[in-house]
Amino acid sequence: MKTYKTSFFVLIIVLTFSFKSLVYGQSPSKEFVVMIDPGHGGKDSGTPGTGRYKATEKDIALDVSLALGKMIEQKLSNVKVVYTRKNDIYPTLNGRTVTANKKDVDLFISIHCNAQPGKKGTAYGSETYVLGTTRNKQNLEVAKRENSVIALEDDIEVYKDFNPGSPEAILGLMMAQEEYLDHSIKLARYIEDEFQTTAKRKSRGVKQNIFYVLAYTYMPSVLVELGFLTHKKEEDFLNSKRGKGLMTKSLFNAVNKYLDYLSVNADSPTFVEEVKTKQSAENITFKVQIEASKKSLETKPYNFKGLKGISKLKQGDLYKYFYGNTSNYNTIKDLEHDAKQKGYTSCFIVAFKEGKKIALTDALKSIAN
Ligand SMILES: [Zn+2]
Repeated sequence: MKTYKTSFFVLIIVLTFSFKSLVYGQSPSKEFVVMIDPGHGGKDSGTPGTGRYKATEKDIALDVSLALGKMIEQKLSNVKVVYTRKNDIYPTLNGRTVTANKKDVDLFISIHCNAQPGKKGTAYGSETYVLGTTRNKQNLEVAKRENSVIALEDDIEVYKDFNPGSPEAILGLMMAQEEYLDHSIKLARYIEDEFQTTAKRKSRGVKQNIFYVLAYTYMPSVLVELGFLTHKKEEDFLNSKRGKGLMTKSLFNAVNKYLDYLSVNADSPTFVEEVKTKQSAENITFKVQIEASKKSLETKPYNFKGLKGISKLKQGDLYKYFYGNTSNYNTIKDLEHDAKQKGYTSCFIVAFKEGKKIALTDALKSIAN
């Protein structure tokens, strides 16, 4: 009887464990990875604010980022934290996204402080951005400022396809993020809610904009503007230990809520068993989307940097081109790597179920066991 009880508990633990890793990490063998990206760094100080403090945007972003990472590591044992920088250095914007994609990050949080152009210093409050388009002049200014550091980088060649002024380029970027946008918005809302309730700050809301680090990270991703360093009182708050602590706690609570949301939406532990039985009936295939264009091209290797096995799909007045076709997720990850090496740096994996496109996260849930 005693043995029976023990095995029963072991079974429960195993089920709970596979359930959690399935939900958080999208595949049972992988833990949930959060990448924290402290904006700017090194030669790029970000906004200097009013100039009354020695600390600039890069310093406050780093302090809050490190504190957030520490809190997550201490309180959420099943979550791994990685950073784009842990000290006062400048990783390029491209470098930040490449690392995030390489490390199979599940959630990307970029942390910044805002600045109001001119000398008024009247604007204050937090903003959290997800990728999207905007016509709002103030939002456009924020993106311009945060992206502008590209001009300071040595190798600007890697940014030649990043053209926020071109509707076609934006459409391509948005499509690549389509799978993750719902989740990004969910987290962004949690963050802004927390800033209001936990830190008692003014929230300027969840906004959309074309930020480089959001456009090229293939996972749910947000960019947080903690507040305006050009606003004296807010600058004082963000430079204070108490202020940083409250913003950190808010961000932590939001990440925690987001993880709860992922668990709740994946149902009960029996879900694991259901998925197993469903798996064989489902016909899921993965492809790497390498290009989308209004031009209809022949699917020959010479049109696709030498890649073979290209398929084409017409959607509206747009042709989408895919590389590879497999039911094995590891294989498609390899093919994605190949395509990136060939120069399709912004390619991404898409999933189809019985010929119809489905969200990648759903596909991964279905094939996981
Ligand atoms: Zn910034």
